[in-house]
Amino acid sequence: DLSNRERLTASGVVMDFAGLRALDDVSLSLGQHEIVGLIGPNGSGKTTLVNVLSGALAPTAGTVTIDGEKVTGLAPRKISHAGLVRTFQTVRLFGTLSVYENVQLGALGAGIRRSQAAAKAHELLELFGIDHLRDVLGDSLSYGQKRIVEILRAIATDCNYLLLDEPAAGLNEEESDRLLGQLSNIPDQFGCGILIIDHDMNLIMRLCQRLHVLNQGKTIAEGTPEQVRANPTVVEAYLGS
Ligand code: ADP
Repeated sequence: DLSNRERLTASGVVMDFAGLRALDDVSLSLGQHEIVGLIGPNGSGKTTLVNVLSGALAPTAGTVTIDGEKVTGLAPRKISHAGLVRTFQTVRLFGTLSVYENVQLGALGAGIRRSQAAAKAHELLELFGIDHLRDVLGDSLSYGQKRIVEILRAIATDCNYLLLDEPAAGLNEEESDRLLGQLSNIPDQFGCGILIIDHDMNLIMRLCQRLHVLNQGKTIAEGTPEQVRANPTVVEAYLGS
């Protein structure tokens, strides 16, 4: 399917855990030049969907494709080779390595040559306005700084799809605003689409071009932030609280 050549897609995904249908016929797609928000109440299936997309879970039914190739159930390492990288709810940096080394490792781990990896790390630190932190060890960073470095390490792999699981959790308003500015340019600058889960509706509504809303494992709405905000079903299930 030519229209999926530059997209990540999930179609008809079902995920059953002993007795519980965590995802029920969920379909979603992400282009390389857009930011899509995945929202919904706790337990609605957001993390499960990210786990299926990134290969941590093999779905009970349904298909995942990257750039038109079926990758359903492949191991996370194979999926990252295909261009999809995720971050986790908890920060996972090397505490005894510098910011620069952490970012460079992202590129090296993806098989990018050393000289190119170094150049890429420089470029990313500069672009995101954190070159002054270059030699600071991971352990010495603030929580907000760690989150950004983790995202840069992912982008350094030259991925085309980035899945961010609650990147603004634990950030204050100023840090969350800065994150918004830093994330918003990624799709156009790097040809890397972003699927983001977050409970910070201020961030989500301003950052995303489209939203996908889950409730009890089912898609209850899709559309622009304006459409979703005006949807009574969404307000009742999630936004009203
Ligand atoms: P969300 O990320 O939207 O909070 P989750 O995807 O974490 O939701 O969870 C969706 C549902 O699936 C919840 O009812 C959760 O308890 C259940 N679930 C998630 N992972 C597992 C698992 N490994 N085993 C059993 N149930 C799970």
